[in-house]
Amino acid sequence: MGMVITIDGPAASGKSSVSRELARRLGWNWVSTGAFYRGLAFAAIQLGIDLDDVKALAELTHNPVWKVSMQDARTTVYFQNQDVTDLIAHEDVGNFASKVSHYPEVRKALLDAQRNCSNGPQGLVAEGRDCGTVVFPKAEAKVYLTANSEHRAARRAAELGLDQGDMVKAQQQRDLQDSTRKVAPMAVPDDALIVDTTELNLDQVVDKVVDYVKGKI
Ligand code: C5P
Repeated sequence: MGMVITIDGPAASGKSSVSRELARRLGWNWVSTGAFYRGLAFAAIQLGIDLDDVKALAELTHNPVWKVSMQDARTTVYFQNQDVTDLIAHEDVGNFASKVSHYPEVRKALLDAQRNCSNGPQGLVAEGRDCGTVVFPKAEAKVYLTANSEHRAARRAAELGLDQGDMVKAQQQRDLQDSTRKVAPMAVPDDALIVDTTELNLDQVVDKVVDYVKGKI
């Protein structure tokens, strides 16, 4: 396994932008582990699989009808050979992803594929909810991003062209589900650098993270 840096945190805390830019500066690979849960939820809905049917969901994790592919600065999700990465970015798919992600059977089945992302010659920056605690507990450096919830909702609503009030509710619901589930809840890894991104722009956050990881790798 190559070197790994993990970036965890709640919805819209800036994980994707920060981790992608960090990977670019280091010349490392980048993966969004949320894409696995979003892709699975999307495939289940397309195939008419009930999101409470844990057996069918666990089987679907291995079905080649959908797949996740890691590329430079993009984690692409395919369903029936179509690139559905933009479709799964919607908040409703995020909410479905959060539903399927609380099943231990589903999490376990997706773990190997997530860990395999670190098998290449380059280092890996992995972002999600449990990257530093469960997926890569031995990562060289761990970061946890946080931000004021109204600020996060405004950021995501602007990106997706949606109402800010609806977004606050949707994200609060998702963060609550993600942080209170029994298996691999969203949590701050013991040894993580915590960065509040509310008042910072992207470069300021990345600079802080780069300073921190340079001392670790
Ligand atoms: O990060 P993203 O918004 O794409 O994640 C979608 C959902 O997938 C999260 O709300 C969470 O329920 C789940 N997830 C997870 N563990 C991860 C990454 C994402 O449970 N490591």
